[in-house]
Amino acid sequence: MTSDYKLGIIGYPLGHSLSPQLHLRLLKATGLSGEYRPYEIAPERLTTELDQLFQNGISGLNVTIPHKISVMPLLDEVHPHAVLTGAVNTITLTSDGKKLGHNTDYIGFIRSLPDDIVSRLPESSILVLGAGGSARAILTALIQLGTASITFAVRDPEKALPILAHAETIKQAYQADSSIHVIALESLPSLEGYQGVINTTPIGMWPNAGDTPLAAIQLEALPPGSFVYDLIYRPLETVLIQQAQTLGLMAIGGLDMLIYQGIAAFELWTRATVPLDTLPELRQTLAAALTHPA
Ligand code: NAP
Repeated sequence: MTSDYKLGIIGYPLGHSLSPQLHLRLLKATGLSGEYRPYEIAPERLTTELDQLFQNGISGLNVTIPHKISVMPLLDEVHPHAVLTGAVNTITLTSDGKKLGHNTDYIGFIRSLPDDIVSRLPESSILVLGAGGSARAILTALIQLGTASITFAVRDPEKALPILAHAETIKQAYQADSSIHVIALESLPSLEGYQGVINTTPIGMWPNAGDTPLAAIQLEALPPGSFVYDLIYRPLETVLIQQAQTLGLMAIGGLDMLIYQGIAAFELWTRATVPLDTLPELRQTLAAALTHPA
């Protein structure tokens, strides 16, 4: 295989993206040649610069904040999964030059879930903290996996109401009957009835790494065998994750989702399969990069 892949990420700003490190390692691990570069594009220049990148031979792009939604109307086609999640984080180019949008955050989340969590979701009530962009990818994944009940705890329930309508569309697409609720984060009742908590807010993210969205005493009410998933990967272990570990709960940080969404994008661009035995080293490299402040 001699293709030279011209890959990259668009966002604004892009200072601390781990994606270049991740994808350069994936190129090496699969024996492919190419480059992966950051392209900082201000929102008002997105339309022209996106076209220019593809005219200059880009073969695939990742898309990050603030372009994940605004890029959608600029594409020739958006994959149904990305339509359901309401955002595009990966663009591929078809053989006839069409720009196709995908969402691999939701694939990354699914791939990062241990099998025993997945198998219990149809009997589980899951609490999701926050209802922003990543929460929609989580919602799509949880509904697809047949989760019994999904509750969003948010600071402004009024603002989060559109997610209920959005959930109905996803349920129809998957012919699923998950029950969906929105409640106020500040009046969160006991966590007793939940088997899993997923944090999609930035509370606890660097540089505010001392913050946490739930107090340890609240987590104590989760039944044994429950899981706590924090999408944050900087720091690698948030206070929330540390508290869950102390309580003996299953604790999953955001690094695996980050890695798996990247692998899913890479496989879409190159059609290569990333060898599983490269994952431990990849994880170690990215974890080391995350121990330094952004
Ligand atoms: P987003 O679209 O801005 O959504 C953030 C959500 O958190 C919103 O519902 C927001 O509520 C809520 N929120 C923010 N600050 C809060 C606070 N102080 N108290 C209560 N709620 C608060 O952001 P996002 O793109 O979903 O990203 C969220 C986090 O997930 C970030 O830390 C990001 O790094 C991480 N992430 C990780 C991965 C991964 O691969 N591991 C992928 C995507 C995202 P309002 O609407 O009221 O502001």
